Amino acid sequence: MLKSFLNFFLSDDSSHSSFYAVYQKIVKWRSTNTYPNPYDLPDTISLPYEFWERIRGLHKNTRADRLERSVSVYWVDGELILSSITTGSTSFVRSTSQIRAAYTPKNKEYFIKEIIVDGKRYSRKEVYYKKVPQKIELQYLFNMHTHPPHVYNEQTYYGFFSAQDIKSLMGSGAILTGLITNEFYLIFRTNKVNIDANTLEDKDITIDSVVNNFGYVLYKGSFGKKLYRVSSNLNSDQSAIN
Ligand SMILES: [Zn+2]
Repeated sequence: MLKSFLNFFLSDDSSHSSFYAVYQKIVKWRSTNTYPNPYDLPDTISLPYEFWERIRGLHKNTRADRLERSVSVYWVDGELILSSITTGSTSFVRSTSQIRAAYTPKNKEYFIKEIIVDGKRYSRKEVYYKKVPQKIELQYLFNMHTHPPHVYNEQTYYGFFSAQDIKSLMGSGAILTGLITNEFYLIFRTNKVNIDANTLEDKDITIDSVVNNFGYVLYKGSFGKKLYRVSSNLNSDQSAIN
């Protein structure tokens, strides 16, 4: 736990990024209205422990009632906050949750930081007084949704992104979106993506096609583990997909 916490904040080089580094880039791309160049995205991404706990919960509930869930992910003072679960639909609409962070002094050295989402306590932790920010940083980051399992011949299957998911991603203007099955995916729209999403059908969307034909950058990982970028055949010749 401590190790993963430290990794989240500390480990960062060109091939591996904590989500913090990716977060900073997302904010930059959004403020300049650009999509990332595939080269600007790392080979692996690590996400914090608390995030994975929420993902496991969403997966478990989806498996139980077989209903898709859609959530918005926010960055609030160094924490990834999942807000406003919509059941039964894939929504790219940003949640309208009320999110706030409150710092209250506990003693001379520590504050209690509480994140409140829609009037309910979402998280609570101690913060050293020197780490209490002057201004609370709150940013919407991306949406993600779950897919329920399908059982066929006593085998369980999970669908990959649907054509509708990709259409919604393109239509929303978002840079990235997440998918929770029995694994976790993050897909980034890059400046190499040049497709007419309206003509897409579900059969067109595969791990191979989104990366190699359409120019997205895709990450895949097991819950709680590092996300790995799915390698592209075109890494050696990016100009071919322009
Ligand atoms: Zn979907």
